[in-house]
Amino acid sequence: MVCAFCRAHARFLILWDRAFLTSKRSMGCEAMSIEIRVDSLSFLYGARTVFSDVSLTVEAGSFTGVVGPNGAGKTTLLKCIAGLLRPASGRVMLGDDDVSSLSRTAVAKIVAVVPQDHHVHFDFTVEEFVMLGRLPHHGRSLRQTGCDREIVARAMALTGVASLADRYVTALSGGERQRAAIARALAQEPQVLLLDEPTSHLDIGHQVDVLDLIGGMCEDEGMTVIGVFHDLNLAAMYCDQIIMMGGGTARWYGSPREVLTQERVVSVYGDRVVVDEHPVYDAPLVVPVSRRSSRKQMALTRQ
Ligand code: ADP
Repeated sequence: MVCAFCRAHARFLILWDRAFLTSKRSMGCEAMSIEIRVDSLSFLYGARTVFSDVSLTVEAGSFTGVVGPNGAGKTTLLKCIAGLLRPASGRVMLGDDDVSSLSRTAVAKIVAVVPQDHHVHFDFTVEEFVMLGRLPHHGRSLRQTGCDREIVARAMALTGVASLADRYVTALSGGERQRAAIARALAQEPQVLLLDEPTSHLDIGHQVDVLDLIGGMCEDEGMTVIGVFHDLNLAAMYCDQIIMMGGGTARWYGSPREVLTQERVVSVYGDRVVVDEHPVYDAPLVVPVSRRSSRKQMALTRQ
C-alpha cells in the first residue's frame, strides 16, 4: 500500500525529471556517452618523467577508478585527460576529438573536474558557487535563466547541499565543500566527470551517498566517470574498471578482480596488505595489515 504522500512525492520527482530533461533538450545538450582513449601518453615535470607509455580505453558510460601509491601520477593523468596539462608525447581522445585540439570552453562543455582541493577565495554562497558550473554553457553572458536555476537546484538536491544554499563556501566543512564541488560539476551537465579523491573528506554515509549518485549517473545517464581513489575497497565496490598506477606507468588496467589481486596490490603498495573476499559484494576486499599489531592479532586468533 503506497501512501498519498509517497505517491505525491514520486509524481513530483517524475515531473521534476521531465522538466530537467526538457530544459536539457531546450539547450541542445542531449546526453551522449563519450569514450576516452589514451594513446601512448607520457608526462614530464621538467626533466622528471611522471609516467610513460600509458595506453587505455575507458568505455563510454563506465565508472573507472585510478589507484596507486602517493606520487604515482594519478592526479597528473587526470589533468592530462582534462586537457589541463600537455603531455610530452601521446594523446587523449574524447570521443572523436583530440583534447589538445579543443578550446578550454569546448572541453568544459564536455568534461567537469572535481579537484582534490577546493580553494575558494571569494565569499560565494553555495548556490552561487554551484551556479559557476553553468558558465561554460553561456559564452560571455553571465545572465542566469530559469533553466540554470533548475539545474543548479537539482544538482544541490542530489548532493545533499540544498539546505546549505545560502551559506558561504568558505564557512563549510571539508565534506560539505566537497559535496558542493560535486554539485558544481553536475550543474555543468558534463558527459565526462573526472574526480580527484571524491570521498576523501566525507564520512562513511556520505561516501556511499556520493558514490551511489555517481554510479547512477553512469548507469542511467551514460556519464563516463574516472575517479582517483585511495580507498581500494570503495574503488572495487563501485568501479567497472581499475587503473593501477605504479612504477612510472599504468601497471594494470582491468576489472577490480583482475587488478586487485594480492600479488599486484603487494607489488605496488608493499607487503602491508591482505586481499580477501568482500563479505557483501562479489568484489575483492583489501585489508591493511600493521607490522606492529599483526603478531598480537595472530595471538588472539590462536586463543
Ligand atoms: P598522485 O596523484 O599519484 O599522488 P601526482 O600526479 O600528484 O601523484 O604527482 C606525480 C609526481 O609529480 C609526484 O612525484 C609529484 O611530486 C610531482 N608533481 C606534481 N605536481 C608537480 C608540479 N607542479 N611540479 C613538479 N612536480 C610535480
